[in-house]
Amino acid sequence: MVIVLEKNITEKQVDNIVKHLEDFGFAVHKSQGVEQTIIGAIGVKPDFDIRKVKILEGVAEVYRITEPFKLASRSFKKDDTQIKIKNVVIGGNEVVVMAGPCSVESEEQIFTIAEIVSNSGAKILRGGAFKPRTSPYSFQGMGEDGLKLLRKAADKFNLLVITEVMEISQIQLIEKYTDIFQIGARNMQNFSLLREVGKASKPVMLKRGLAATVEDWLMSAEYILSNGNMNVMLCERGIRTFETYTRNTFDLSAIPVVHKRSHLPVVADPSHATGLRDKVLPMARAAIAAGADALMVEVHHDPEHAYSDGPQALLPDQFAEMMRQVKLIADVIGRKM
Ligand code: PEP
Ligand code: MN
Repeated sequence: MVIVLEKNITEKQVDNIVKHLEDFGFAVHKSQGVEQTIIGAIGVKPDFDIRKVKILEGVAEVYRITEPFKLASRSFKKDDTQIKIKNVVIGGNEVVVMAGPCSVESEEQIFTIAEIVSNSGAKILRGGAFKPRTSPYSFQGMGEDGLKLLRKAADKFNLLVITEVMEISQIQLIEKYTDIFQIGARNMQNFSLLREVGKASKPVMLKRGLAATVEDWLMSAEYILSNGNMNVMLCERGIRTFETYTRNTFDLSAIPVVHKRSHLPVVADPSHATGLRDKVLPMARAAIAAGADALMVEVHHDPEHAYSDGPQALLPDQFAEMMRQVKLIADVIGRKM
């Protein structure tokens, strides 16, 4: 931790700051400049609340130089984490695409969409059976019947399955059908749920919360990792800002930021990030260019009648075109697709 002191600080105030730091358990190194004095405090505990120093008289600024997350951090593990599930690797050189409807709606719907996305090169079928809806009166998902259909459709077209788990009580059931657990944006800080999927045997995709900083997001990943599940991928799905022309604001810069701080693979979801189908293709291209390891996109053959998120679902032809274009981008940056 680095503490920058105010310019006209008194000696008594400096002594008081030093005493506090020593009492907190830090080794203190003072660096007296002509203009400004800086204190280096060594031996930071990851959970130390730096506000305890910020509020001391004479302190201008406090900077933390170690990260509060450990297992998720690049300094803990230098090499990229590669998550191997059957014949698919997420976080390797190959860019992986997960696609499917927002919700599983019927046998006919999920089989139709599974065939479409598989024909265009997707490796993983998405679809919600338990849906986190803003309104309790909206369609809540088909539950276990939806999981069964999702699994059957994926198996038929040689795809893996990703689906959302919303509650601890659903983990055992969903684990029977899925290959990857999805933790939705609204549950990113549901710490008891994170701990429990941390004890599960299948990989987890953790979506970024609606108003979460990258640090909050990595701290949530830490809950899963520290409970033993090292197969965690992070999904950028847009954050809330004051902008209204899109559903959320796609934080593209989070992709290289996370890659620098963490070894965990990054998935980009341009569907929820923009909320509008005509914005999905350009943002999918941008996400691959920014280094995303995988894409998650919503696709529907009849989006006008979709039970949820129809306006952001790509039509089959648009999905095929997206696959064609993102492959070109992947080639340019030396990745396979
Ligand atoms: C979803 O993937 O269908 C979903 C609900 O996403 P998010 O949690 O990002 O809103
Ligand atoms: Mn959706």
